[in-house]
Amino acid sequence: MAKVTYHIITIFPEAFGSYLGESILARAIEKGIIDVKIYNPRDFTTDKHRKMDDRPYGGGPGMVMYAEPILKAVEQIKNSLKSEIRPTQVKVILFSAQGKQFTNEMARKFSKKYKNIILIAGHYEGIDARVTKILKAEEISIGPYVLTGGELPAMVLVDSISRQVTGVLGKHESLEEERVAAKEVYTRPEVFEFKGKKYRVPKVMLSGNHKLIEEYKLKNK
Ligand code: SAM
Repeated sequence: MAKVTYHIITIFPEAFGSYLGESILARAIEKGIIDVKIYNPRDFTTDKHRKMDDRPYGGGPGMVMYAEPILKAVEQIKNSLKSEIRPTQVKVILFSAQGKQFTNEMARKFSKKYKNIILIAGHYEGIDARVTKILKAEEISIGPYVLTGGELPAMVLVDSISRQVTGVLGKHESLEEERVAAKEVYTRPEVFEFKGKKYRVPKVMLSGNHKLIEEYKLKNK
């Protein structure tokens, strides 16, 4: 079974525990189908205050994260993988609000192509631009808005890529992924009453006629 390991570089390592400890991802980690390793770039600083950021050259607001501790963390990860895998199977992603928009298509491609995915989460005004150049990292954005840090984007990628890794979703969920996804889904009761008004499940959904149901879903996609 092809296992995918995510290596997340973050100054907030504790942000990940609760989400990764739940449901499908937790099961996948337990089964050894995916693995998530967290690295704090502060552990790679040399000064006693473990300082990670400084003022930007050329002025401007906020602070910029140093290149060196992040590069050292990546080096340690790559060294630990040397004997295991080919360099082409390692992907380095750096999160940026200006990066390439992430899609499900990319999630599918990454899940097939890479065994190790390094995810670098920025903070403040971002990361010294030399990190992207040196690592030839792909800058990825999860959407057209600005977040305070790259931790949520890292979790979004771990979640969406893992769904595409064989064995992570159960048989039933995988099948659902392949089928026509409906915009609207319903469950019991057939008639739901709320504040005096009745809300019904569309008749076709109750018909048992799978052809009609698929047509309805396609039309309402
Ligand atoms: N002025 C900076 C910019 O526009 O990129 C804002 C940096 S933001 C406050 C801090 C960090 O959050 C970024 O370095 C990046 O790692 C992450 N981030 C923020 N929005 C993001 C998004 N939409 N997608 C991916 N990462 C994002």
